[in-house]
Amino acid sequence: MKNMFAKTKLFATLMAVIFLASTATAQDLSDAAIKTALNEAHDKYKNNKDGKNADYIKELARVDSKIFGIAIVTADGKVYTVGDIDSKVSIQSISKAFVMAQIIEEQGHQAIQDKIGVDATGLKFNSIVAVEEHRGKEINPLVNPGAIAATSLVAGVDSTAKWKSILAKQSEFAGRQLSLDMPVYISEAGDNLRNQAIAHLLLAYGRMYFDPAQATDIYTKQCAIAVNAKDLATMAATLANGGVNPITKKMVVSSETVMYTLPVMATAGLYDDSGIWLYNSGLPAKSGVGGGIVAVVPGKFGIAAIAPPLDEAGNSVKAQLAIKYIVEKLGVNPYKITPKK
Ligand code: GLN
Repeated sequence: MKNMFAKTKLFATLMAVIFLASTATAQDLSDAAIKTALNEAHDKYKNNKDGKNADYIKELARVDSKIFGIAIVTADGKVYTVGDIDSKVSIQSISKAFVMAQIIEEQGHQAIQDKIGVDATGLKFNSIVAVEEHRGKEINPLVNPGAIAATSLVAGVDSTAKWKSILAKQSEFAGRQLSLDMPVYISEAGDNLRNQAIAHLLLAYGRMYFDPAQATDIYTKQCAIAVNAKDLATMAATLANGGVNPITKKMVVSSETVMYTLPVMATAGLYDDSGIWLYNSGLPAKSGVGGGIVAVVPGKFGIAAIAPPLDEAGNSVKAQLAIKYIVEKLGVNPYKITPKK
């Protein structure tokens, strides 16, 4: 009898070990798993002091470098957050992915390919060489030149109409009315000669589609939109959910638009470190020099982290670490394939 009991116990233990071994690597998107992953990532990296705030835009150097918030919004509208979620940062280059989607929606995906390009430049986000090399071709909407060109393509009779339309679209993605961080806008607008130069160079090559000074100004405003981690995660979740905002349920863009937006995020979302990012996470993503990063797990969830200190390429150090950790913990790298038995 005692022997049989011991055997049953041994069997139960064995089964538990096998079960745990199989779930440790499998995808687990339960409430508990998501909360644990978020909390662990926040704990693990909150004291990381690497990187530094962007300072080529003076106002960004003044942002509290301790801000660290992470959020996940699932394709069915559940929201999970940890850390600093009320603090806002400027969206910066993350806005580019959503303006790109707006252009695809307005003009079709071919317009992006023909008028801007969809190739990674492999160069810094504000590279002039990238424009010069192919006379304004073979760039993409996620680095400054392509992004200013994308902004110049937004429908609208004048500069004000284009700006209003961009702000409205970014707000639809976020599921709430977003607004401008005026000090960040003024600070960058007074100091964006390089972007002005890029816009004029594009014009010289016939690849700028509105007044270059005004297009750069709208682009600078678009970069200064203030967002928190939940806003960004909701924006990413709208892409993850095929263009329908999972919280407001509004269709923001078509699923076809999302299909053409995500690949460029995968190849060019983190500038010249996009390859390293994709290699390590498998996910389309977009970063901004305000310290935010969004990543999209198609069909499942959007994730965002904000933490201002950046690495050399201009990507938030802690946001990259946190998102990578969570992606791995939840087993959502789409290239992680379980072979059929
Ligand atoms: N507004 C910034 C710029 O144009 C955006 C750059 C970024 O986030 N990488 O330089």
